[in-house]
Amino acid sequence: MSQRQPSLEDFALLAEVSEMLTVLDQQRVLDRIIEASARAVGAEQSSLLLNLGDNEDWRQIFIGYFPDPQGGGGHAPTVQLAGDAVSAGLPGWVIQAKKAAIVTDTHTDARWQPIPGTNPQARSALAVPFIYSGEVLAVLTLVHSQPKYFEEYHQQLLTIVANQATVAVRNAQLFNRMLEQQQQLQAMLLAMPDLLLVLDESGTIMLLNDPAEQFLNSGGEGGRGGGTLLGRPLSDFAAADSTIAEVLAWLRAGLAGDTLDFEVRSAERRRDFLGTVSLWASPISGKHGYVIVMRDVTQLRDLDRFKNEVLHLASHDLRSPLALIVGYCNLIELDTPEDSPVRAHLQVILRTTHRMDNLLNALVRVEKIRKSPLELHQSIDFHALVKTAVANQLPTYQSRRQTITTELQLDDAPLISLDPVLIGESMENLLSNASKYSAEGERVIVRADYADGRFHYMVEDHGIGIPEDELPALFQSFYRTRSVREESIPGQGLGLSLVKTIVERHGGDVWVESEEGKGSRFGFWLPSNPTESSAP
Ligand code: ADP
Repeated sequence: MSQRQPSLEDFALLAEVSEMLTVLDQQRVLDRIIEASARAVGAEQSSLLLNLGDNEDWRQIFIGYFPDPQGGGGHAPTVQLAGDAVSAGLPGWVIQAKKAAIVTDTHTDARWQPIPGTNPQARSALAVPFIYSGEVLAVLTLVHSQPKYFEEYHQQLLTIVANQATVAVRNAQLFNRMLEQQQQLQAMLLAMPDLLLVLDESGTIMLLNDPAEQFLNSGGEGGRGGGTLLGRPLSDFAAADSTIAEVLAWLRAGLAGDTLDFEVRSAERRRDFLGTVSLWASPISGKHGYVIVMRDVTQLRDLDRFKNEVLHLASHDLRSPLALIVGYCNLIELDTPEDSPVRAHLQVILRTTHRMDNLLNALVRVEKIRKSPLELHQSIDFHALVKTAVANQLPTYQSRRQTITTELQLDDAPLISLDPVLIGESMENLLSNASKYSAEGERVIVRADYADGRFHYMVEDHGIGIPEDELPALFQSFYRTRSVREESIPGQGLGLSLVKTIVERHGGDVWVESEEGKGSRFGFWLPSNPTESSAP
């Protein structure tokens, strides 16, 4: 143990290092710690190896410190990657041992290896680790050209310094990381085309991105005065745009869960927005508030409106002329001699018109099913529903000399509340496809069971099957596989999309497995307690 008593300079050093605890600029903290330590022990040169964390390489910061009698010192930090220094030499030893070390003579101590940039005249060295949570965060190395320069006392003093410095470095590192995260968040907000507003509990704007700022600023009264909108209550903008008034009404009504989705139209701007309000809460400060994101969906809604107009057109304006065409064809047929070739032409017109009428009907029906509420009947017997679907399809199967085998395991199944017409239709749809896309005389199997709270329904055929690359598109409206189009098998490509819509609206899901040329399995499951979910 050294007998040396602490000097005034030593206390000054400790005071200087404790001051560092409040400095958040990491580079400044490091520079000052390295310099002050070297000055305090009279070292000629000091360097610091720093672990940047995040799996990055260690960095070595050198500061040449050459004390002169006037008390000034040369001070020129250089930074470089640490390379081998962390595994070899004195710093490497300190990192491994996690304790300070003194090299009394660099010529005889095997731990000493000159580090590039260190004074080659160095004859003695002192290295101290900065340890945080059991990990070495940094190693400070001081050198002197005189052998046996460093004493036990220096080591003790610098260990105390290192303990304080570790906290200062860690603080600065955490602060830097926080700054970095803040900058990432800022960049994200800037890149986001949606409107984003963060409000506190009272509805005051705490954060907003440029699109939100432009939106609020461009709206008449509320935007008056421009400038930053931070700190202003959102209610200031209620008169500026009807969407804001509506958002405020949602907030006043309170959120039932953690998030709320809504759709609003700005009457002033004639734009549609899809919005989400989510709650945020800070477990540390106990504060909470709202995050509002609004996406401009005007283009989508315009398309939707256009689609509705087309459907309206289809269901009314296009169907009436079709009825006229059929009527006149029938009239012409009456006036046409039996052996006239015109009769064959009329048949073609009638068949085509009939196909068009079917397509229009199907389109209107799809739309109706998508929009109208489900008729959720209580207590439906799933077993009976399957039986009815099979019985309804039997004539089709018989006309093609095909058979249906049923394998039903529904004895212990509870009753289920569902829309029996729509689910029955979905069951029949899969059955009729199995018949249509199988050869005459084929056998189709229908399986249904109840397991783990789910009703399963599945139709298996040994028909034409579906190539793997076409499977993902099957449930899209109007999708028909290449082979059925080439072979001109009649159909509209709407049945499966309808089944998917119906099943998903009941909270279930559809699936398909198939192998080209071998056959297919189409199926769906329903939860035992379906609740109506909105149209997908
Ligand atoms: P549609 O049968 O009127 O064409 P669907 O929506 O019911 O319309 O089916 C979409 C497409 O999926 C069909 O055109 C067909 O290519 C394929 N498909 C459906 N069911 C089967 C099946 N059981 N076997 C082979 N292909 C099928």
